[in-house]
Amino acid sequence: MRSIKEIFIIGNGPSSSHTMGPSFAVDYILEKYPHPDKIICTLYGSLASTGKGHLTDYVISLKLKDIPHEIFFDNKTKTKHPNTMIFKIYQGNKVYKEPIISIGGGTIITKGKVKEINQNIYPHNSLNEILKYCQDKNITLEEYVLEHEGHEIIDYFNNVYDTIEECRNRGISANGELPGTLHIKRKAQTMYNNMCHSKDGKNNIPMNIAISSFAVAEENAAGGIVVIAPTCGSAGVIPGAITYLKMKNYDKQDIVKGLLVAGLIGILCKTNGSISGAEAGCQAEIGVACAMSAAMVAAVENHPNEVIAQAAEIALEHSLGLTCDPVNGYVQIPCIERCAIFAIKAVSANYLAQILPVRDAKVDFDTIVKTMYQTGRDIPRGYKETSFAGLAKTLNK
Ligand code: SF4
Repeated sequence: MRSIKEIFIIGNGPSSSHTMGPSFAVDYILEKYPHPDKIICTLYGSLASTGKGHLTDYVISLKLKDIPHEIFFDNKTKTKHPNTMIFKIYQGNKVYKEPIISIGGGTIITKGKVKEINQNIYPHNSLNEILKYCQDKNITLEEYVLEHEGHEIIDYFNNVYDTIEECRNRGISANGELPGTLHIKRKAQTMYNNMCHSKDGKNNIPMNIAISSFAVAEENAAGGIVVIAPTCGSAGVIPGAITYLKMKNYDKQDIVKGLLVAGLIGILCKTNGSISGAEAGCQAEIGVACAMSAAMVAAVENHPNEVIAQAAEIALEHSLGLTCDPVNGYVQIPCIERCAIFAIKAVSANYLAQILPVRDAKVDFDTIVKTMYQTGRDIPRGYKETSFAGLAKTLNK
């Protein structure tokens, strides 16, 4: 299993699969073919259907700068993976063809190989194996992560934490309209002011969680710098849960440790399931973010490993079937509000995990990840980041 760093990448929104992945794809192409005469890029599947709203063509053009290029959207040709792009590189009298897949969370596959931050560094591939290992060694999940990633990972996650906080603060102080044709006004600042004027609002946990989630999700929709967790569209969930922990007086050091456990849950979902809305619907994005957040909260509160696993399981189980239907292809409706709701839900999943008897549980986390992936494959294509169905169809703006 690969490093948890790939679950928390810092970059520009609004989409890890549709913006960051294609941006990394251009980096790969230019590294391999440094002096192209011309590049033609064709986007397929979900990249073709919602690429405009997700700024896919914009980011590719931005990266290619003054290299002559053309970008085409082809949502008719069927491809094996819904987020496929094919680059044709013209160099001298030669033409090279590079198919690249964006599998979510900013990770890309080139010629069948994952272009990744790190190679496999964990010997285990399931949470049950990890729990058994931790039990035998009498260590926590956080200690398990540190054992395999090394203590340098703390510096990486200190930066992740700071970036999330900066993003939240920017989101609360910003106002005006989000980019795109929906003409949606940013709401985080108004929500913050409304909360301050409501009775005991500053101490209200769900209100504070929601404001943080909105602030970060709006920054993402505006193309600002965010931390994917595990994707751009779901980037507002973890910040909401962090706000809950801060209200409970946990500090940065405590929360960073919780982020390590959240990363472990995220990489397990990515390894054994999916974190791509185009592949498995929103359950794979916001559902996974909810599981990561529930595990983070439980870990920071120092619950046993089994309770942390149960919190993640509950959060993901009750996200199954969640569809991805961004209106007009923008990561705005339903994404922004959904981040807030699922951040609150993550906190509830943690409460439930503390009082449910762990030993009686019939469903474990690994089973739910497998179920999520299977459910995702069964969800009709229109509900997987194509904007052909669901809210994208009924709102039809
Ligand atoms: S609906 Fe969910 S999966 Fe789809 S773009 Fe929005 S956040 Fe991502």
